[in-house]
Amino acid sequence: MNRHTPNDTGSELATSLASIVGPAGVTTAPEDLEPHVQDWRGRFKGRAACLVRPASTAEVAAVIGHLAARGVPVVPQGGNTSLCGGATPDESGQAVVLSLSRMNRIRSVDAFDNLITVESGCILERVQEAAQEVGRLFPLSLAAEGTCQIGGNISTNAGGTAVLRYGMTRDLVLGLEVVLPSGEVLSGPRGLRKDNTGYDLKQLFIGAEGTLGVITAATLKLFPRPREVITAMAAVADLAAAVKLLRHLQEDAGDNVITFELISDVALDLVLQLLPGHAPPFPRTPPFSVLLEVASFWRGFSAADAVQDSLARASEAGLCDDAVVARDDAQAQALWRIREDVPEAERRSGTAIKHDVSVRPGLIPTFVDATRRAVEAVLPGAGIILFGHLGDGSLHLNVVPPGLGKARVAPEIHARVWRAVHDVVTAHEGSISAEHGIGQLKRDELWHYRAALDRRLMRAIKDSFDPRGLMNPGKVV
Ligand SMILES: Cc1cc2nc3c(=O)[nH]c(=O)nc-3n(C[C@H](O)[C@H](O)[C@H](O)COP(=O)(O)OP(=O)(O)OC[C@H]3O[C@@H](n4cnc5c(N)ncnc54)[C@H](O)[C@@H]3O)c2cc1C
Repeated sequence: MNRHTPNDTGSELATSLASIVGPAGVTTAPEDLEPHVQDWRGRFKGRAACLVRPASTAEVAAVIGHLAARGVPVVPQGGNTSLCGGATPDESGQAVVLSLSRMNRIRSVDAFDNLITVESGCILERVQEAAQEVGRLFPLSLAAEGTCQIGGNISTNAGGTAVLRYGMTRDLVLGLEVVLPSGEVLSGPRGLRKDNTGYDLKQLFIGAEGTLGVITAATLKLFPRPREVITAMAAVADLAAAVKLLRHLQEDAGDNVITFELISDVALDLVLQLLPGHAPPFPRTPPFSVLLEVASFWRGFSAADAVQDSLARASEAGLCDDAVVARDDAQAQALWRIREDVPEAERRSGTAIKHDVSVRPGLIPTFVDATRRAVEAVLPGAGIILFGHLGDGSLHLNVVPPGLGKARVAPEIHARVWRAVHDVVTAHEGSISAEHGIGQLKRDELWHYRAALDRRLMRAIKDSFDPRGLMNPGKVV
């Protein structure tokens, strides 16, 4: 890496950047910088020369070109909800944080061809609303959707609760507009479902976490809205039953099964005990609960009847012990709030060593058993909280050290538990980063587990786009 040492001080840089984005688009005030130099969990904190907020692709290109000429590193930032320190600058204070928040226009919506083109600073919820306004669905959905931006979603290849039916963010992107580290603008967004004209360059930027360029706009797929969505929660005895229940529902309803989320007993109890306003879904907390959604897209087909019937037969087959089918929106939302409140309840309960991992759903029972044994060997008496998107094989698997309560986990314990869990993930041909990305948090883990050839190719890609290492340094590669 041959990054130049910047000569400009923060205020000199800000003055020169103001000539591109206007005085309102750049700041060095500590109180303005504060929320932009730390991550969502407050786990990573850095410093920045200044914060710049361009309002157009031309301004992004001019800013990047200006900074590149001076050898100044850039940290692209969306809603800053990354849980891996991906959008947080390092402690040198040399980098400029480039926020996309002013680039928040919906450029066009095409309900006929099921397309939407948006600027990358659009909040995810706004993209969903724009689709809804024309009777369409943009299916990406996650708990941070009121804050995260579509550019951040694309840069992290976000997952969420509807991957089972609609895939990851990568599956929803038809075209990208990107400002490269040189300041050049790559292609315009295109709405083609088929395009085999050589390398599909846009794919490189999806999940690149801002290390190859700044995404300024995207053309995304829209879908028909379901006529009916039925939400239910089922109580299951173990993980094997949970996975069989998923396949049973899919036998009945095919890819109309939109969501299949897991909540372990400890996770459910934490929500019920620590957060107000929740009613227990079952008389007794089961070992595992699954929150599921089945949609109907056809006139005359009742998803409600299908779910009732399918769950009744699942119960006869011993796949679920109890089930609540939401009667109305309010009850459906109450079930969803239980799932969405798990991270907050867990945060309030104290320290946990968190893992965001995935394996094939069929391997989840043996994977979790093997993980319990591996964790017990490293940290006897530790508990495991499980929740997440079981339908697509991704789990939040959080290890609670015995008796630690609110205390910090010593870094060496954290590292040993991580390595133990990630070794088991790897032995099950899984991923150590299912959906939250690498950022700063998992960079060393990534380089430990990826094959030497993968690492060489990733390095070569990074060097060919960003030979001076100015684009989001210290993340991923
Ligand atoms: C409560 C909560 C729930 C969550 N649930 C989920 C979930 O279910 N599934 C899931 O996948 N994630 C989840 N996340 C993680 C997070 O919301 C996602 O990773 C999201 O996609 C990040 O979007 P953002 O706009 O906040 O990106 P940021 O945090 O701002 O940035 C993330 C990365 O993308 C880069 N970046 C941002 N914008 C651009 C751009 N325009 N061009 C180039 N690079 C850019 C940044 O440099 C950084 O590396 C959750 C987070 C929270 C706090």
